[in-house]
Amino acid sequence: MSESDLRPERPVRPGEPLIEVSGLKKHYGGDGVFAGPPVKAVDGVSFTVKRGETLGLVGESGCGKSTLGRTLIRLERATDGEVLFDGEDITTLSGRDLHKWRKNAQMVFQDPQSSLDDRMTVGEIVREPLDAHGWGTDNDRKTRVLDLIQDVGLQDEHYYRYPAQFSGGQRQRIGIARALALEPEFMVLDEPVSALDVSVQAKIISLLERLQDEFDLTYLFIAHDLSVVRHITDRVAVMYLGKVMELGETEELFSNPSNPYTQSLLSAIPVPDPTAGDHRITLPGSPPSPRDPPTGCQFSTRCPAKIRPEGYDLSEDVWDAIERFREIVRERSRIDLGVPDLVKRRVGLFSRYDDIDHTLEDLFADLDLPPEVEEIIDGAANRVKAGRPSEARKHLSSAFNSVCDDKRPDFHEVSGSGRQSYCHRHGREYEDVGPVIERRTK
Ligand code: ADP
Ligand code: MG
Repeated sequence: MSESDLRPERPVRPGEPLIEVSGLKKHYGGDGVFAGPPVKAVDGVSFTVKRGETLGLVGESGCGKSTLGRTLIRLERATDGEVLFDGEDITTLSGRDLHKWRKNAQMVFQDPQSSLDDRMTVGEIVREPLDAHGWGTDNDRKTRVLDLIQDVGLQDEHYYRYPAQFSGGQRQRIGIARALALEPEFMVLDEPVSALDVSVQAKIISLLERLQDEFDLTYLFIAHDLSVVRHITDRVAVMYLGKVMELGETEELFSNPSNPYTQSLLSAIPVPDPTAGDHRITLPGSPPSPRDPPTGCQFSTRCPAKIRPEGYDLSEDVWDAIERFREIVRERSRIDLGVPDLVKRRVGLFSRYDDIDHTLEDLFADLDLPPEVEEIIDGAANRVKAGRPSEARKHLSSAFNSVCDDKRPDFHEVSGSGRQSYCHRHGREYEDVGPVIERRTK
């Protein structure tokens, strides 16, 4: 074997799809009698990655970014859906075909401290994928490793050193060299600079940009630092609770986000200017459990632009309080799921139902509730106190559910440049989202 066995020379056509993802799901667990519902880490996402681009992937911690990245390159097996890589569905590959395919796609991990084996020399680490794929002769491999070490800005003499002797930035360079060894077309960069000092971050980012040009690489760049994403990516996908909420050209999306979740996320960037703090949305509550995601829109429990049910005339403050109350009741009902009553009594979970009065006090004491709304809230609270939180949850749903609770939105095209956003507001029958921030600030 020789170097010609690596990537076949083909005319590079930037912009055409390299990866086409449709209906992709990755669920963890859920099998077995005592397992409880599965964790829906990735729950039905569809998008394309274009050849030669850097696609950003952002979202709060736990929303499924790493799982999506790992599933795209077959470090995880998809639960459902399709990943076409150069037209071939890789979710069903196995055995030798899978092994052969693996050289096309590699990953750079977030934590350079734990992702390298400290018992191996730098040379051995970078060489390992070449060995695993039986690449070239012994001598070819050594030459290639030395080239790679130089490509990532390290020196020949580092070949025989151990990673423990290196700084975080240098360790990340080693990880990148290793990922490049088999000339992949596609790399998943999973928060590659998050664990590094700010001064080092810029150097690693410019290294990644240079390597992309030099080797015609396509990147999925996962990050939670939005300023890094804005700087380095061509397009960006915004993820929440296993779902892609919005996807589009980076600059356009950042300057004019369409989806309420993107708007919330962008306005939550910590800004040094204290006067800018006025425009920040603090998202109420925390994301629901991926074991028990909302039936309708994943973001419905926290959405500042949620469509309200007809027949009520309530202020946004009251709606906020109602949604937070519903969230608390939902949490209680989750405890109810799966844990037998006897166990619950023994561990004292029932006693936690008593503090529902405090919750009511905290949420509603300063608000003016119309009597019919108060009656619904009290009805739910009484069911919680009686140890029937699931009933309380249903009681609240039948009174306060809107389309956002009941129905999954469609992924709507929202601009001429191919931006897509997952929100009922884009449907013809509803007013458009508009700038949520203006709606919120009096
Ligand atoms: P992110 O990278 O956005 O922080 P992850 O993809 O790591 O999110 O995790 C998404 C969800 O899947 C989380 O709820 C996490 O706890 C869960 N998860 C991730 N990996 C596993 C696993 N191997 N087994 C079970 N649950 C997992
Ligand atoms: Mg992650």
